Amino acid sequence: MKTCELFKIKKVLSFEIFPPRRTDSVSTIYNTIEELKGLNPDFISVTYGAGGSESNTETLKIASDIKNKYGIESVAHLPCISLNKTQVIEILNNLREAGIENILALRGDVNPNCKPQNDFKHASDLISFIKENWDFNIIAACYPEGHVECPTIIEDIRNLKCKVDAGASQLITQLFFDNNYFYSFRERAAIAGIRVPIEAGIMPVINKKQVERIAALCGVKLPKKFLSIMEKYENNPEAMRDAGIAYAVDQIVDLIAQGVDGIHLYTMNNPYIARRIYEAIYTLLAA
Ligand code: FAD
Repeated sequence: MKTCELFKIKKVLSFEIFPPRRTDSVSTIYNTIEELKGLNPDFISVTYGAGGSESNTETLKIASDIKNKYGIESVAHLPCISLNKTQVIEILNNLREAGIENILALRGDVNPNCKPQNDFKHASDLISFIKENWDFNIIAACYPEGHVECPTIIEDIRNLKCKVDAGASQLITQLFFDNNYFYSFRERAAIAGIRVPIEAGIMPVINKKQVERIAALCGVKLPKKFLSIMEKYENNPEAMRDAGIAYAVDQIVDLIAQGVDGIHLYTMNNPYIARRIYEAIYTLLAA
């Protein structure tokens, strides 16, 4: 099923997982998927490292298994910065053969250790290429606080409109910790004529160092309320975990009340946390 169809009938809940980094622990991801299946996700997406990670070969297999063995709709991420046209064609043909219908088409981060190929400069180039040659549902990334490389949020939204015009039928946001950025972004996107569903990407934080690193990398701001929680509990992992879950639930409750199209949970391959969040919000999704 093309996941863009789901938004016509419901508030969508999706999960993101990544292939385990060490190839010898690949089987652990199947325990994660098994547990996530119990939470009735509308789809599960599987990342693909733009830097040419070893585990990339697993993206296709995991996305295929999610769909064909577990019966859950799957989305394969595809960043194009370090791939040439021939490689992209091969990956897309393999995905199609595996029955996968949904691609999250990305540029990927610029990586000093990985030479960029010049066949696809922006995600919009990849989106046009997919749209012209295959029948995938295409999803694109968006940035409530603006993409870190883009000088202004307005310019970033103009670039986002190019992705939608090129064929993206659904958007997923980068993580954010202040819902006000999401609401302003959603308004600006509507003014720019972006009419496709936008899922809010939520990351439950359970580790102070990890979130500081990710936030710096993505240019995401950490609100005062969030910082004081992390400072208070940073040396108490259980309390930190519970506070991180509570913060994410609080964000989601507000987003649902404000009519969000869907929630995309960055699970970090941690089904326990996904379950705790699911249990706190599932009645709201259906209400
Ligand atoms: P683009 O849309 O190409 O945008 C990149 C920059 O170029 C932006 O600043 C944009 O404003 C600008 N731009 C775009 N088009 C134009 C244009 N025509 N002219 C001038 N400037 C332009 N990375 C991975 O490596 N693997 C993953 O699996 C992965 N999954 C992700 C999932 C989600 C939901 C999100 C939000 C991000 C994900 N990323 C992933 C990270 C992503 O690859 C980076 O954020 C990357 O830096 C930008 O990718 P993009 O597809 O948004 O690029």
